[in-house]
Amino acid sequence: MKVSYSALLPLAVCATALTLSSCNDSKTATAAETSSPTREVMSGTAAVAAEEDSAAANTAAPDPASIPASKIADAATITARPQVPILCYHQIRDWRPRDSKGAKDYIVPVDAFKKQIQMLADSGYHTVLPDQLYAYLATGAPLPAKPIMLTFDDTDLDQFTVARPELEKHGFKAVYFVMTVSLGRPNYMSKAQVKQLSDEGNVIGSHTWDHHNVKKYQGQDWVTQIEKPTKTLEEITGKDIKYFAYPFGLWNPEAIPQLKQRGMVAAFVLAEKRDPQDPLFTIRRIIASGYWSPRTLHNSIVQSF
Ligand SMILES: [Zn+2]
Repeated sequence: MKVSYSALLPLAVCATALTLSSCNDSKTATAAETSSPTREVMSGTAAVAAEEDSAAANTAAPDPASIPASKIADAATITARPQVPILCYHQIRDWRPRDSKGAKDYIVPVDAFKKQIQMLADSGYHTVLPDQLYAYLATGAPLPAKPIMLTFDDTDLDQFTVARPELEKHGFKAVYFVMTVSLGRPNYMSKAQVKQLSDEGNVIGSHTWDHHNVKKYQGQDWVTQIEKPTKTLEEITGKDIKYFAYPFGLWNPEAIPQLKQRGMVAAFVLAEKRDPQDPLFTIRRIIASGYWSPRTLHNSIVQSF
């Protein structure tokens, strides 16, 4: 497959996808807010942070491969479980004059990011990782109080240099969906940085080789976009790569058996509906917009999941 220049600039293409489809939730909630106190504590629905010492808050979760098929719930049961909020971030950096209006949904300024993460911590959220989410969805295993998953797409360097230390302050872990074509390029993470994230207890997932739309794959594309990148990431991390995020959040039913065949146990879309047949391969996320105050983010979390 030929690599187009635009494929190396996922931000630009992502922004196109946003206007085309999927991210209606984030779109409607994007209206900029003026009032944003430095620290906002959002009281959630049921759970309280006091439970944080409970065993459920432990990040240990079984490997999905160790869960017997007989223990895995049917699609209707999985779909009926309350969704865990999942946020999707791309670039964490201050806006530049040339950033388009649409791109700013994907570029969260550093201070806005810090305030968003601080709000999550102050509100008692606990980050969970994909094995925990899988065990919860598949078997009903307990999760910590106020669970949330933080995901970072596209391998941008500022995810390592800016987001990582910020998450560390709060003991938060995250999932990094890596596009392997970018590894080691300027402004993208290196293999060593990806390994470090993995070693520090974060999860590395696959986001294809060069961000082409999964709906268009044929034949060898599955090897180029899924098989080889998965192997690369497994070599880098020394761990199995089991989770996948569809570029632009775009998927089709034909992709799911292809992903399963190549070792994936769950896959992540954006804000559109889940597949009633296979909710584990269409787990929803919302893009945490660069326009959002902590309060807007909180409202979006509550309304979208
Ligand atoms: Zn992407």
